[in-house]
Amino acid sequence: MTELQGKTFIITGASSGIGRATAKKLVENGANVALAARRLERLNEIKEELSDQPGEIILKETDVTSREQMEELGREAVNHFGKVYGLFNNAGLMPLSLLKNQKVDEWDQMVDVNIKGVLYGINAILPHMIENNDGHIISTSSVAAHQIFPGSSVYSGTKFAVKAIMMGLEQEVAQTNIRTTAISPGVVNTELTETITDKEVMEQFDSVLNVQQLNSEDIAEAVYYALTQPAHVDVNEIVVRPVDQP
Ligand code: NDP
Repeated sequence: MTELQGKTFIITGASSGIGRATAKKLVENGANVALAARRLERLNEIKEELSDQPGEIILKETDVTSREQMEELGREAVNHFGKVYGLFNNAGLMPLSLLKNQKVDEWDQMVDVNIKGVLYGINAILPHMIENNDGHIISTSSVAAHQIFPGSSVYSGTKFAVKAIMMGLEQEVAQTNIRTTAISPGVVNTELTETITDKEVMEQFDSVLNVQQLNSEDIAEAVYYALTQPAHVDVNEIVVRPVDQP
């Protein structure tokens, strides 16, 4: 019996990388999960892979930039499990670019997914948590919310926003049993860099990636740590970076 046994979590960005590894960690520890992403076939693979684990898994094809789809995700998870304890707002994109290269559509995408997606997640489940006076909201920020390099202006801006939103949320729910955590990873070996289209940034970025990259499981461990502290302990931010990342 673990602390997470029977608790239910919604995880966005669950189809790969950090979201996928966290889903696995939680389900192995007896939690139920509602896994959300756009690629339903990837979510099905994870469900299949974890079919012998104790936690129950439901899947929901969701675009976090849609307020309606996010509300539907929250409703379906509550209807199915009765109570949702946790939300992991983890979906994100990182098409880094130099501002002078005017990748304006990519700026829009990052604002929509990385900021609005987090807000829509909170919107979908916070009233339910307030009603229960219980819950934990975790959002994925980044080391890029602590330091900025050429090409990371917009991405860092979105991750600073995530940090600010989580700090504000923490203040709002301070008198309740609801806990809040911002997870700020350094370089993690996932599919995240595949959205970069700016060749100038890609060349510079090679040196950033030339570190002992973390695995998604390292971040899942940090999430698990935050979730399994005693009820009076609220871990508000965790920064985890490769030992050789500046
Ligand atoms: P991945 O690319 O492996 O995962 C990104 C996830 O976000 C996928 O599951 C993807 O699912 C989902 N996603 C993207 N857009 C949408 C959308 N519109 N609607 C729903 N889901 C969406 O990267 P990571 O696991 O690395 O990224 C997870 C989080 O970690 C992100 O917020 C990222 O910014 C953050 N992070 C990552 C770092 C790293 O070095 N990897 C460092 C610091 C922070 P699908 O495409 O199926 O919709």
